[in-house]
Amino acid sequence: MSCRKTSWQLPKGEPSLQNSSVLYACDVTPDRYNCPMAKRKDPLEKVDNLDARKAKYLPVAAALTDEYGLLDWSCQQDGMDELISCILSQSTNDTNRDRAFARLKEAYPDWEAVRFADLEELTDVIRPAGLANQKAPRIQNVLGVIYDEAGQYNIDFLSDQSIEDAKNWLCSLRGVGPKTAAIVLCFAYGRPAFPVDTHIYRVSKRIGFIPDKLSANDAHPVMEAIVPPEAYYQFHIQLIQHGRDTCHARKPACERCPISKYCDFFAAD
Ligand code: SF4
Repeated sequence: MSCRKTSWQLPKGEPSLQNSSVLYACDVTPDRYNCPMAKRKDPLEKVDNLDARKAKYLPVAAALTDEYGLLDWSCQQDGMDELISCILSQSTNDTNRDRAFARLKEAYPDWEAVRFADLEELTDVIRPAGLANQKAPRIQNVLGVIYDEAGQYNIDFLSDQSIEDAKNWLCSLRGVGPKTAAIVLCFAYGRPAFPVDTHIYRVSKRIGFIPDKLSANDAHPVMEAIVPPEAYYQFHIQLIQHGRDTCHARKPACERCPISKYCDFFAAD
């Protein structure tokens, strides 16, 4: 495993993600990788009362830290493992993803073998993740692009790119969107990218960090404008935990929620 970055320090020259005009990478970066986000309107322009939404961050973060504590970033798996694991995780749960990933690692000695594996066999190996007919060719395509561009099955070069270029490069891979890009950069490399998964999307809408109608893809740059970059990882983990423990999808346990006084959903109920 090659985990490259060990702290949340922004690389020298990295723009502050608090600055919305710099934040939205695809608006300031030429369409270098044909990023699907590149031609879209800056999501921050779709958000009303951004200052009021930002003002919720500190008290909510403090309450969630009291409740769940702080977790320092540590690299759990390298960038390649994180990326392929993310592709397997699309439209399934963690258990199925982990089963499929373990089977993949057991069946093949390296990424080269996965890339050139018999497609039918690979599809069968990753079947526990669901949508295996789509995910198997997607994985082989991604591996091919990585090898063609990097000359090896290794994406550690993302650690040295600007955060905008790293996001755009990942988003240029077929089947990789802003969530997967942010997970890889945040989890494998400790880079300032805020992943918005299903729990975070739900909880953030209820609290009022993001508007109800904002898409999950657009929620990424908005959350990155609200949360300080050095707290992305911690706050991401805390919101997921809160979504699992308290702010359930069907029946949120508002009566025992430590952040109810900051929550728009609770206030409107
Ligand atoms: S008050 Fe209810 S809806 Fe709001 S964050 Fe807490 S559990 Fe979720």
